Amino acid sequence: MVDTLHVGDVRVRRIEEWQGNFLPPSVFFVGFDDADFRRVAGPLTPQYYDAAADSLYAFLQTWVLEVDGLTVVWDTGAGNAKERPGIPIFGNLDTPFLERFADAGFRLEEVDLVICSHLHIDHVGWNTRLEQGRWVPTFPNARYLLPAIDRDYWDPRGPGPRPTESGAFVNSGTFEDSVQPLLDAGVAELVGHGCQVSKSLSLQSVPGHTPGHLAMNLRSRGEEAVFVGDVLHHPLQVHYPHWNSPYCEDQAQARVTRRRILEEAAERDALVVPAHFGGVHCCRVRRSGETFTPVLEA
Ligand SMILES: [Zn+2]
Repeated sequence: MVDTLHVGDVRVRRIEEWQGNFLPPSVFFVGFDDADFRRVAGPLTPQYYDAAADSLYAFLQTWVLEVDGLTVVWDTGAGNAKERPGIPIFGNLDTPFLERFADAGFRLEEVDLVICSHLHIDHVGWNTRLEQGRWVPTFPNARYLLPAIDRDYWDPRGPGPRPTESGAFVNSGTFEDSVQPLLDAGVAELVGHGCQVSKSLSLQSVPGHTPGHLAMNLRSRGEEAVFVGDVLHHPLQVHYPHWNSPYCEDQAQARVTRRRILEEAAERDALVVPAHFGGVHCCRVRRSGETFTPVLEA
């Protein structure tokens, strides 16, 4: 298990929230083909696919970067004690995430920035925690950078456009307990494509999974990583970029964006750091003609 990555001068720690079986690939992937799956499943078993259960093996994890004098948290998982009728497996969790955060050597108070790739249920959870019956910011001194377009989209009182019906159900309760409290506390900053977070960190628009989805590019001493959130859920989508998750709000745009990100990562030999990968939790991408292959090594 890789718990620390180094990208140039930057140390990146992985802090795990949850791991387990999620769904059979034939159920999860829109565009799934069984023969294509069998062709590449071998090396993905068992770290990314539990064959006995016929289930994708998935993680919720947060990445903490020490970069340019800042402590930056990228994506905040599902959180504890949240009502989640849309995805019950992520509801009412009681994980030792905060203890693990402390064990990794970080204090909540020292986090400067929290950045959410998008405003889905499993990426904003630890934005807040319950204190005396109220949802309050978990990281008391942090500014929270949130995708502006997703705020307009997921805020039930926002200007829209509105989520799909299934998307709204999956995400029910999320905005109210994990985003609105940040807006109320005045600690949220709404950002978008081209945001230069610091000398080494920038954000780019990667729409499709959600309309405001952002990826984070890290460059340090000639090395590159791209934190892609849910542009990729699973290494199978490196082999088959046209396989979407059922949670991609704009299915056609999600496919276009995924292919672009894979092309760029292969071209630049960037380390790709998705939100939910098992195994070594990141990959590089090799391209041969129109075919991509994940290199699943740290
Ligand atoms: Zn996700």
